[in-house]
Amino acid sequence: MTDKMLKFVKIGQQTPPKRKIGTRKEDFNEIYDEFVTKKAEEQSSRCSQCGVPFCQVHCPLSNNIPDWLKLTAEGRLKEAYELSQSTNNMPEVCGRICPQDRLCEGNCVIEQSGHGTVTIGSVEKYINDTAWEQGWVKPISLKHEKDQSVGIIGAGPAGLAAAEQLRKNGYKITVYDRYDRAGGLLIYGIPNFKLEKHVVERRTKLLKDGGIKFVQNFEVGKDATLEQLRKKHDAILIATGVYKPREVELPGNDLGNIFPAMEFLTASNKKGLGDKVDLFDKGTLNAEGKDVVVIGGGDTAMDCVRTSVRQKAKSVKCLYRRDKENMPGSAREVANAEEEGVEFVWLSSPKEFKGKNKILKI
Ligand SMILES: Cc1cc2nc3c(=O)[nH]c(=O)nc-3n(C[C@H](O)[C@H](O)[C@H](O)COP(=O)(O)OP(=O)(O)OC[C@H]3O[C@@H](n4cnc5c(N)ncnc54)[C@H](O)[C@@H]3O)c2cc1C
Ligand code: SF4
Repeated sequence: MTDKMLKFVKIGQQTPPKRKIGTRKEDFNEIYDEFVTKKAEEQSSRCSQCGVPFCQVHCPLSNNIPDWLKLTAEGRLKEAYELSQSTNNMPEVCGRICPQDRLCEGNCVIEQSGHGTVTIGSVEKYINDTAWEQGWVKPISLKHEKDQSVGIIGAGPAGLAAAEQLRKNGYKITVYDRYDRAGGLLIYGIPNFKLEKHVVERRTKLLKDGGIKFVQNFEVGKDATLEQLRKKHDAILIATGVYKPREVELPGNDLGNIFPAMEFLTASNKKGLGDKVDLFDKGTLNAEGKDVVVIGGGDTAMDCVRTSVRQKAKSVKCLYRRDKENMPGSAREVANAEEEGVEFVWLSSPKEFKGKNKILKI
């Protein structure tokens, strides 16, 4: 094995620096700076190249993490990129938002032995951002296009990944989505401070450049029936995601100013993209100057509290029924929220909503 690896005993764990708390609360930009090359190489060299790599075992994509860490440590970035993208349709997105602390990093042998995980997510982001900068990421170029066509309903990550794989196999692809932009929750759910929108937009553009057709503002079930689409294509793939919020079944849940997370986050993301959003402009879905309480302890709750901070809420509290150790949200996101001034109230489960204003349900 190369003498560049197994450095975890000598080299401590480092993540790319975070922007200063005061500055990052003032905007919606991503909070982590990029690794510099030397740091990415150094951090990759901490990997112990396990015979049974638990990072890979616990990766839903079975990414070949040890090999691309080794290539990065050796300065062979283009090869590292090629390997990384061979199992992942959008590695630059996963490097940013995958819950690594529950998956690859949480199961890294170095982490388990108390040395601090190899910073896999940050290295993945570094490799792939470099690939985009260097022009190594190319659109699909087909030698032979097949006669058959596939219609894909939904332009979220599932639909986009399927579109890319099918296109690589030569099919004519049309992706239909009811929204005006492709990307699904990557655009309208996940806030910019975790995933800047230009990262998703350049990926979608690449797919378009590779010959995939997109039909936006097209809701299947309204603008066409499934049956009509089936007649147009040889096969249909449904990748429409999950949108029904879970109701909080408590007295007073019909009072005004109680909103499901997605309405709040979608409004915020649309504003960030420059759209006109009446309910935001009128103040209904804008946290500015308000005392905000978010119920729940998952990653969506963390996105809501941190969005509220950036919208300049007067105060932001997160109520969670268990304790910190048993939160479903990523520990990294909880730490970011705490740093940004969110107050967590553990072991608290609301019994009812109190108030007078039975105003609008939107
Ligand atoms: C607030 C929030 C934060 C998240 N943060 C993370 C994170 O940090 N890390 C992580 O790994 N995951 C995160 N997730 C989860 C991740 O976003 C989803 O798992 C992922 O987007 C699911 O992809 P999808 O393609 O199945 O669905 P979606 O992204 O929901 O895409 C489905 C698409 O189908 C379209 N559609 C639906 N019905 C129709 C129809 N009838 N006709 C036409 N089009 C239709 C929708 O408009 C949408 O564009 C988060 C989710 C949320 C809500
Ligand atoms: S589990 Fe950790 S040390 Fe082992 S191969 Fe994966 S990243 Fe390297």
